[in-house]
Amino acid sequence: MYDFVIIGGGILGLATAYRLLQERPGTRLVLIEKEQRLAHHQTGHNSGVIHAGVYYTPGSTKAKLCKQGAERTVRFCEEHGIRYERCGKLIVATDAEETGRLRALEERVIANALDYENISAGQLREIEPNVAGEAALLVHASGIVNYTDICNRLADIIRGSGGEIRLGETLTGIRESNSEIVAETDKGEITARTAIVCAGLQGDRIAMMAGIDIDFRVLPFRGEYYRVAKARGELVKHLIYPVPDPSLPFLGVHLTRIIDGSFTVGPNAMLSLGRETYSGNYPVPKDMADMMSFPGFYKLMASFAAAGLYEMRGSLSKRVYLERCRKYCPSLELGDLEPMEAGIRAQTVSSDGKLVDDFLFLETSRSLHMCNAPSPAATSALPIADEIVARAFRKAN
Ligand SMILES: Cc1cc2nc3c(=O)[nH]c(=O)nc-3n(C[C@H](O)[C@H](O)[C@H](O)COP(=O)(O)OP(=O)(O)OC[C@H]3O[C@@H](n4cnc5c(N)ncnc54)[C@H](O)[C@@H]3O)c2cc1C
Repeated sequence: MYDFVIIGGGILGLATAYRLLQERPGTRLVLIEKEQRLAHHQTGHNSGVIHAGVYYTPGSTKAKLCKQGAERTVRFCEEHGIRYERCGKLIVATDAEETGRLRALEERVIANALDYENISAGQLREIEPNVAGEAALLVHASGIVNYTDICNRLADIIRGSGGEIRLGETLTGIRESNSEIVAETDKGEITARTAIVCAGLQGDRIAMMAGIDIDFRVLPFRGEYYRVAKARGELVKHLIYPVPDPSLPFLGVHLTRIIDGSFTVGPNAMLSLGRETYSGNYPVPKDMADMMSFPGFYKLMASFAAAGLYEMRGSLSKRVYLERCRKYCPSLELGDLEPMEAGIRAQTVSSDGKLVDDFLFLETSRSLHMCNAPSPAATSALPIADEIVARAFRKAN
């Protein structure tokens, strides 16, 4: 019998396995991942930003874990020779209205105790000659990394510490008794004292499989990107972000440098018709049925109808998408935007149609479920894993 069976080989499942073995060497642990490789879903399809923690309510768990997570991600990269860069983030206001909102955001940056500078239009021209704006905040702690590199290193350490990782094995059922939990998979059964589920886009389904009565669903939101060729990689030196619009659920299209020297524009936020449909937004009957039978879906759509139409226009027309990017980087041309696979966010939505903002943990007596881990959960993975480990040890004791 194992002490722990972990479901999900994204950054949260792996960080949890790593921290369990660090805290209690000798722990008998197996992690199963349904794909043939680690980080196949959200973790391997994200923007690769190490977030500093600008946007979150001061004092909130998200703010705290993001700040700690950014520091620990950088330390982990340094200790393990993983490439990362602290390039800093410029949040750029392009008109007077945005400049007003930028000042409000500055208050939040101060309250979150982040190191930053106010940048005037003239300074912006000096440090980013290809970026247009009236004012900006430069947040120094933001950076970039490839989270798949981190996952692969975590996996090496887990295996080296006696943990087992099984790829291509899918959880299909869960049975629980007073003394053990049985994870039924397409390859057989795994018996453990405790199960930990970090299944991203499938988190609600697995919680229900474990018998938890949930009043939410995971809705998939596509983040569509374009890659800007390496030859144009010198166009921007920092991460270039818009001033967030408080009426919209996601941050808005940004220019993100990537560690290989190119940069991406995006992601937008389109409702996805399938949970794992990376190559195109085509309907998957089971995913559509789950979405359409959930009352929260209609309430959410009603409250974000205008935002949805805005996103759809950008998704359907590359030219419209380009115009949104040119607001910040006017010299971008249509030919600079090369196709790139989309990412799909697992966004938990409650039955009253609200986006669940905080990390959400649910439990049975022998299982722990991470049911909402939106951005910046890749940045915050190590401190989130600490929280999961503390809960798991309480359960196991
Ligand atoms: C477009 C986009 C951009 C983002 N940008 C950033 C960013 O720049 N910075 C940041 O910090 N965060 C970002 N995020 C958020 C971040 O990527 C996620 O919060 C994080 O990757 C969540 O990790 P996870 O391990 O919970 O999920 P995942 O990476 O989705 O992993 C879950 C795993 O569980 C497996 N699984 C599911 N069901 C089963 C089953 N039945 N049996 C076995 N295995 C199963 C899946 O195959 C998957 O590999 C972004 C996300 C997206 C989508």
